[in-house]
Amino acid sequence: MKAIVSLNAGSSSIKFALYRLVDDALTFDAGGKIEEIGSRPRLKARNADGEIILERDWPADSAISHAHLLEDLFGWAATQLGDRQIVAIGHRIVHGGVRFAAPRIVDDALLGALETLIPLAPLHQPHNLAAVRALRALAPDLPQIACFDTAFHHDLPALATRLPLPRSFHEEGVRRYGFHGLSYEHIARRLRDIDPLYAGGRVIAAHLGNGASLCAMNGGASVDTTMGFTALDGLMMGTRTGALDPGVILYLQTHQGMSVAEVETLLYKQSGLLGVSGVSSDMRTLHASAAPEAGEAIDLFVRQAARQAASLIPSLGGLDGLVFTAGIGENDPVIRARICDCLAWTGLMLDPDANRRNDPLISTPGSKVAVRVIPTDEEAVIAGHVMTLLKPDGRPDGWIAS
Ligand code: ADP
Repeated sequence: MKAIVSLNAGSSSIKFALYRLVDDALTFDAGGKIEEIGSRPRLKARNADGEIILERDWPADSAISHAHLLEDLFGWAATQLGDRQIVAIGHRIVHGGVRFAAPRIVDDALLGALETLIPLAPLHQPHNLAAVRALRALAPDLPQIACFDTAFHHDLPALATRLPLPRSFHEEGVRRYGFHGLSYEHIARRLRDIDPLYAGGRVIAAHLGNGASLCAMNGGASVDTTMGFTALDGLMMGTRTGALDPGVILYLQTHQGMSVAEVETLLYKQSGLLGVSGVSSDMRTLHASAAPEAGEAIDLFVRQAARQAASLIPSLGGLDGLVFTAGIGENDPVIRARICDCLAWTGLMLDPDANRRNDPLISTPGSKVAVRVIPTDEEAVIAGHVMTLLKPDGRPDGWIAS
């Protein structure tokens, strides 16, 4: 009896999912999140029926490391899985650069190559890789698989990868990559299951969570996306600016004397919904707030999302579908309605009741653009890649046979 673990390790959270592997089929067993790492870590895990099966707090201690928490998590996972043995771990790795277009088994050379990409994803990559390293120390013989958020965008049309800088920069890797690829891969796959005709069309997927981006998909392939060189570009996010006049950065450094590190913190951690509202980075908290600044932050989020959705339409030559996903996209009818309202000129007509209910299809039958809500599942995509890469007929070293 075998099991696979999917991990998504960020700076202050670790998302995880455990899957049973029976005859080449994966079944979700349990999953959850450790949050508030660095302040007061707490863990919540649910089973396949959505019931809470574990809640755990650690003492408020900023020194409790990711490695320590992972060790505790794997201790619990072993008891949860009973006689099932964890045979591999899949990781979400934000940046695979130009080289890595598909999941890879982690070895020293791969780790080294991925470390060189840390400057391109300073908020995510170090934590992704730290989790890989911590688990290598804990279980040196367990295969670990890196699944890249950039991979779904690897075959973007050449023009969509280019920044308007002198050509030499592009050759050095200063180009557009795109992110949230594991989420978009899931959406593309679900669309094929739900509605193959629609999946073959021109669709914008809106991943609206703490991080947020849009992906223009034609026939299920990424043809354009709002995140670019880093996960800072594109939509306004919980704490990130999204696209910003580059002159602002020059001004801050030249005239306000801000250091590079200060600007980095400003752009990644103090801006977006948090910066504009001065209240919170969390959409639910902003909805609940009476502060006018909270309302303005929401207004700006909607405006930016609609503007950038519209900016992707030329890359598709039209629009057949719009898919909302991630925390805000899946759960927030108000934001969805407001974004759709700005896109009514496309012939998109929202069904208000279906939208309120978070139905899978929230447009009217007469709408020229079909609007869907599809829960994302990056962990399942990771587990699927692990299984494919390591199954007996197509992979190295036969752990499955062990
Ligand atoms: P992450 O990028 O960390 O995975 P999530 O996809 O969990 O983020 O999204 C987090 C965002 O989703 C937060 O802004 C949160 O307020 C928002 N969110 C979650 N549930 C709801 C809800 N029911 N209504 C509105 N916003 C929600």
